[in-house]
Amino acid sequence: MPSNGATSSEGHARFSHIVKSSEESAYLSAAPDLVVVVLDVDPYAWAAVDSSSTGHLLRKVVVELCIFLNAHTAIRHENSVAVYAAAHNRAELLFSNAPLNSQQTKSARLVAERGGSKPDANTYQPFKLVDDAVLEGVSDFLEASKPAADGEARADEERHSTGIVSALAQALCHIHRLSLSNATGADASAGMGSVSIHGSGTGGAGSAGRSGAGTARGGYKSRILVLSASPDSSSQYVPVMNCIFGAQKRGVLIDVCKLFGTDSVFLQQASHLTGGTYFRIKDISLLLQTLMAAFLASPTLRSQIRLPSNDDVDFRAACFCHGRIVDVGYVCSVCLSIFCSPRERCITCRAVFPQRTLDRYESEKETYVASAAAAS
Ligand SMILES: [Zn+2]
Ligand SMILES: [Zn+2]
Repeated sequence: MPSNGATSSEGHARFSHIVKSSEESAYLSAAPDLVVVVLDVDPYAWAAVDSSSTGHLLRKVVVELCIFLNAHTAIRHENSVAVYAAAHNRAELLFSNAPLNSQQTKSARLVAERGGSKPDANTYQPFKLVDDAVLEGVSDFLEASKPAADGEARADEERHSTGIVSALAQALCHIHRLSLSNATGADASAGMGSVSIHGSGTGGAGSAGRSGAGTARGGYKSRILVLSASPDSSSQYVPVMNCIFGAQKRGVLIDVCKLFGTDSVFLQQASHLTGGTYFRIKDISLLLQTLMAAFLASPTLRSQIRLPSNDDVDFRAACFCHGRIVDVGYVCSVCLSIFCSPRERCITCRAVFPQRTLDRYESEKETYVASAAAAS
């Protein structure tokens, strides 16, 4: 058997029987992908579309999500996944197989305690770890959020889901920590003592826990996929924008798959501004096909394939006072809050606006309304 040295490249030794030349193996040395999924499980939003109290529809969606995550893992051994669940005001990491030992998730631990992820000869172990942790994690998460959901009727503003934003922020932190840990792994510098990098990618059948993902020497190409069910909450405008700026700075794409309900203006803006894809599913029974066709491609491929585009992004902002989308808004000069009509003081930062300015706005508003009426 001729040996041409392909096996000496230990990073992708497992492909040495098919990858012979250095150009062929070049793509294998590119950074692996990390997809962080944010699953919106807000009970109010799901109750609106699933009248059965068993949560049958949500379970079906979670199962299809697991198939998608398995496909992502199957594309490349080093690819990693992380899953966050978000409900009305909570978000929790359900699973992550990115190499960050210090962050063993609660659901993965619970599954391990219950003996849920015992090696099964008929199952590829990394798939089983994801499936068990996500399926059990979602039901545990819903159980834990129950008292708040079933308590006396929540006030209107509390009814809006803020969990998505919380999950987005946590996802960005997770991605950031991974990049730090990769940097420390490469330099062997001190500073992140609790983080360790798995040296070799041999963890096929998985030792204990979630070490099956293997190496990530060059860091990850990270993206976030939001499966959104609940409507926008106008109070979350600023946090969403901050997440968008954070994602832009780190080069993280935000993909959004809108499962049902009205389009989310904030998430449309998030995907547009970060170069991700926003897609609204017409029929939720097509979820798996949509995920596979529109959201499986690596960010490195995005420039070469045609994905659903979102040309009609609504860039209007929501007013902070009523949450209405406004054509003409009034912006606080101190904190940049947006209001639908001139007001004496800012409801966000309490800055007082000069009476003269308010008078001028009132007169301008009259002429604006008059010209709009004349035009129509
Ligand atoms: Zn308003
Ligand atoms: Zn202000």
